[in-house]
Amino acid sequence: MTRVFSGIQPTGIPHLGNYLGAIQNWVALQADHECIFCLVDLHALTVWQNPADLIVQTRQQTAVLLASGIDAEKHILFNQSAVSAHTRLGWIFNCVARLGWLNRMTQFKDKAGKDRENHSAGLYVYPNLMAADILAYKAVKVPVGDDQRQHLELANDIVKKFNHDYEIDFFQEIEALIPPQAARVMSLRDGSKKMSKSDPSAQSRIDLTDDADTIALKIRRAKTDPEPLPSSIEGLVDRPEARNLVGLYAALSNLTPEQVLSQHGGEGFGPFKKALADVMIARIEPIAKETTRLLEDTDHLDHVLRTGAARAAAIANPIVDEVERIVGLLK
Ligand code: ATP
Ligand code: MG
Repeated sequence: MTRVFSGIQPTGIPHLGNYLGAIQNWVALQADHECIFCLVDLHALTVWQNPADLIVQTRQQTAVLLASGIDAEKHILFNQSAVSAHTRLGWIFNCVARLGWLNRMTQFKDKAGKDRENHSAGLYVYPNLMAADILAYKAVKVPVGDDQRQHLELANDIVKKFNHDYEIDFFQEIEALIPPQAARVMSLRDGSKKMSKSDPSAQSRIDLTDDADTIALKIRRAKTDPEPLPSSIEGLVDRPEARNLVGLYAALSNLTPEQVLSQHGGEGFGPFKKALADVMIARIEPIAKETTRLLEDTDHLDHVLRTGAARAAAIANPIVDEVERIVGLLK
């Protein structure tokens, strides 16, 4: 069975973008792949986290993922820091990747903004650790949102350079699985920014723990323009907020944006937002309720992660031991 790896940072509660861009795909892949899902807590540290909150968020994310349909018995769910193979391989990849490659990463530029000098070195080399997360398992398919495309290209550059430098066909190139729809869900407050856990405004995103009233309110308040919906997708050019809401409706109701506009074209945002909130609530509310239930038993959540980490380590340790031998570390 083909091995799949993907991760999510416990930097906050997963949102609708994480769900449509990644988690929904993770759940579907479980049917016919061997899946390894990771709460990448070391990546979370690239931006300062309140230590107590980080622990709470790690458990919350575990609960949200289980509530979304991740099967931690058939597959593997664990937190990154519990398996040291990630950092061992991450260091080796720091020495393989070139500074010029990292300089091109747009996510670093987006996150660091103009204040580049004051960001952590970890934020800069994060794509190398991400490559290690995947390759420590020799995973070949990686379901992610569109914002991770460039990082996966860098991971493949690492694969090629590692194999070339050590004259060995050890790693195989990896394949990004990016969904055809909602691969980049935008902020509800600003159609030019992606929806993010780390956005300071809670109004900018729908959390997977939001209740029906909160979802309805956030959608009602979502930024739009005064025009009614167009009847074809050409009419969405230059209307990023409208395009985002149409894309969300399409992804949540398994329609194409064209089909959504053939049904709702000409409608004002009042009725369209109501219809959108309804399809969103139908999908999110059951996840939110199950998450609340799972969070009552933190011992169980910790047990899930511990068991997952032991199973993950059993796969990754021999692979990283072999890498250390290949590069000449005395074992
Ligand atoms: P942070 O702001 O802390 O980086 P994030 O919201 O970007 O948080 P991540 O944990 O970095 O979330 O990403 C987890 C997964 O969700 C990745 O596969 C990423 O590509 C996907 N993802 C993140 N944001 C979006 C989005 N707005 N639309 C679609 N997919 C997304
Ligand atoms: Mg991110």
